[in-house]
Amino acid sequence: MSMTVDSLKTYAVNTWCPGCGNFGIERGIKQVFADLVNEGSVKKENIVILSGIGCHAKMVDYIAVNSFYSLHGRVVAPATGIKVANPELTVVGFAGDGDAYGEGLEHLIFAAKRNVNITMMIHNNRVYGLTTGQYTPTSPKGFAGRSTPKGSLEEPMNPIELMLASGASFVARAFPLQLEPMKSVMKQAILHRGFALVDILQPCFTFYNTYQFYRPRVFDLQQAGHDPSDWEAAMQRAREWNYTDADDSKIALGVFYRAEKPAFDESLLGERRLLALSSPALGGVLETHI
Ligand code: SF4
Repeated sequence: MSMTVDSLKTYAVNTWCPGCGNFGIERGIKQVFADLVNEGSVKKENIVILSGIGCHAKMVDYIAVNSFYSLHGRVVAPATGIKVANPELTVVGFAGDGDAYGEGLEHLIFAAKRNVNITMMIHNNRVYGLTTGQYTPTSPKGFAGRSTPKGSLEEPMNPIELMLASGASFVARAFPLQLEPMKSVMKQAILHRGFALVDILQPCFTFYNTYQFYRPRVFDLQQAGHDPSDWEAAMQRAREWNYTDADDSKIALGVFYRAEKPAFDESLLGERRLLALSSPALGGVLETHI
C-alpha cells in the first residue's frame, strides 16, 4: 500500500500564524517523504527528523515519523550522532536561521567540513519569530526589530557562501511559494550522499513579511544554465545576492553546488559500516568502535 501525505499527520494542533511560510515547507517535505517511500528510495521507519528551538521546530510535532526535539542551535550534533550510530537511517534536521547560523554555527561548519551524511533544512525567515521579532544573522542591515528599533547595524551573513567555503558537498536554496522546485531540491538533498544544506527563504508573515520582496526577484539557477559541479561558479552565484534588501536584487534558487566525496560515517566506520548495514551485530560493532 502506498504512503499518503495524510498518513504523516499527527494529533498536534498547528499553532503557526496564518500565512506563515512554514506551512509550505511542511507540505513540501511531507510530499517528498511520501514520494521517497513510495518509490522505494527510503523506508519510513528509517526516517529521523530533528529540530532546534523556534517556530520551525514544530515540524517534529507535525510529521509522523521518528523525531527528536533538540536544543537551540544543537540540531547538527544529535543528527551526526544518530547517523553515525546507524548509517541506515535517513537523517533530516530542521533549524531556523538564528538556530543554525547563530548559536549553532560552529556545528554547521564542522558538519560541512566533515561531510556528515545528513540533510539540514534551514527555515531562514531572517528574524527570530518565536521571540517576537529580533534580528538574526541573515537580517538585512537596518532591520528594525524588537532588539534593534533604530535598525540593525550589521551586514547580513551569506550562508550559501559560508557553506561553500566550509566544504559542504550539497548547497541549495529554495522558496516555499515555488512548491515543486522546492520539493525537487529537498529530494535531491535527502538523496545526496554527504552533507546537504537547503537554505529555505521562509517568510515570517507576522514579523518580517518578505513574500512580496522575494516573489519578483527569484529565478531558477538550473534554467539559467548554472553547472552545479563548478564550485567557482557556485561561489560567484552565491555572491550575487548577499541577503540584503536592495531593490535590484536577483535571488537564485536551486542547487548551487553538488560534489561526490566520502561521507563522514563511511570514512569513520570503513569496512565496519558494511557489517553494520548487513548484520544484526550492529550493537556489537557500535559498542566496540563508537
Ligand atoms: Fe511563522 Fe513568523 Fe508566526 Fe513564527 S512568528 S509562526 S515564523 S509567521
